[in-house]
Amino acid sequence: MSLDRGRPYLAIPGPSVMPDRVLAAMHRPSPNIYAGALPDMVETIRPDLREVAGTAGHVAIYIGNGHAGWEAAITNLFSRGEKALVLASGQFGLSWANAARGLGVEVEVMDFGRSAAADPARVEARLREDRAGEIKAVLVCHVDTASTVRADVPAIRAAMDAAGHPALLAVDCIASLGCDEYRMDDWGVDVTVAASQKGLMTPPGLAFLWFSPRAAERCRGADLRTPHWNWGPRAEAEEFWQLFHGTAPTHHLYGLREALTMILREEGLPAVWARHERLARAVWAAVEGWGAGNPAIRLNVADPGQRGRAVTSVLMGAPHATRLREWTETRAGVTLGIGLGMNSAEDPGADGFLRVAHMGHVNAHMTLGALAVMEAGMIALGIPHGEGGLRAAAEVVAGA
Ligand SMILES: *Cc1c(COP(=O)(O)O)cnc(C)c1O
Repeated sequence: MSLDRGRPYLAIPGPSVMPDRVLAAMHRPSPNIYAGALPDMVETIRPDLREVAGTAGHVAIYIGNGHAGWEAAITNLFSRGEKALVLASGQFGLSWANAARGLGVEVEVMDFGRSAAADPARVEARLREDRAGEIKAVLVCHVDTASTVRADVPAIRAAMDAAGHPALLAVDCIASLGCDEYRMDDWGVDVTVAASQKGLMTPPGLAFLWFSPRAAERCRGADLRTPHWNWGPRAEAEEFWQLFHGTAPTHHLYGLREALTMILREEGLPAVWARHERLARAVWAAVEGWGAGNPAIRLNVADPGQRGRAVTSVLMGAPHATRLREWTETRAGVTLGIGLGMNSAEDPGADGFLRVAHMGHVNAHMTLGALAVMEAGMIALGIPHGEGGLRAAAEVVAGA
């Protein structure tokens, strides 16, 4: 029988679950886009966006998804033929590299595989070799959403400084912002990219760039920049329309306003980070408990310090991950994430990965519920697993 009627739970790493308050804030007639409440409200959003990224620098808002944010960052950073060093720990790093290549940037990828973070020592060594200073910027995902590896951004900055290299540091925080601790200015990041639909709990459709005064200065002549992507007028608009290079994304902005209020003014960013940390640890404990009875079940990232707090990639042995995802969605109303970019589609191993998202508007009953449904699915499907998974997850939550 199916027990899927009731409120479904989309536990995929974006779009994330949206608070009803965010949905309600968007449910209104179109506002005047030239004067009045909307421009006034946007003036409150911009400082809050700086706060959520931990920067006093500039912020530019784009109508677009994360891929648009990637392209915005690249076009503002580079001139054709300039060089990017991309530190990849999974599919999203590789895709950002491809986006840069497609725009005419010369791209060098340092590939750290699919279950380990960038090694700062290797980054430092590579930058020391670049005596001519050809590398204009280092690009890295804070959390690679496919592998769920988390980079040590301060350590990468320290490696760049130790090498005495002038490259800018650009970080993709699309999966992590509003989930994992992130401090752009304290960590010495020059450009941060994010989007609305993950930790920021708003529908897909907004991308954000934060950039330091140093990046603004160093990239003044970037010739890949086009009028639409140009971060300058968006960050320092003289007229309201310039903030969005056209019509404002009216309803997304009302939703975002509500989400930022919930994150910054009500729960508070440190508490938001702590909640994601605790829920992530509950998921890790469950997987480790199941793995105790079946070595094929394990976390993709062995080192807890290198695991993202917003989403967790799990290995189960093919075809169990795909079977389990189908079961949880059709029998219990929980949709888990596919194992993106971990194996190719032709490889039967591709059915051996899944991802559990715990990003954004998620609380203990949602995460424990998803884990309990996974355990029920393993029982129903005869997937061998250790007995202690749920108990271990509950203990993590109980310690809260
Ligand atoms: C989701 C995500 C993207 C892509 O965002 P889209 O909105 O799907 O274009 C890029 N990078 C990371 C780290 C992500 O999590």
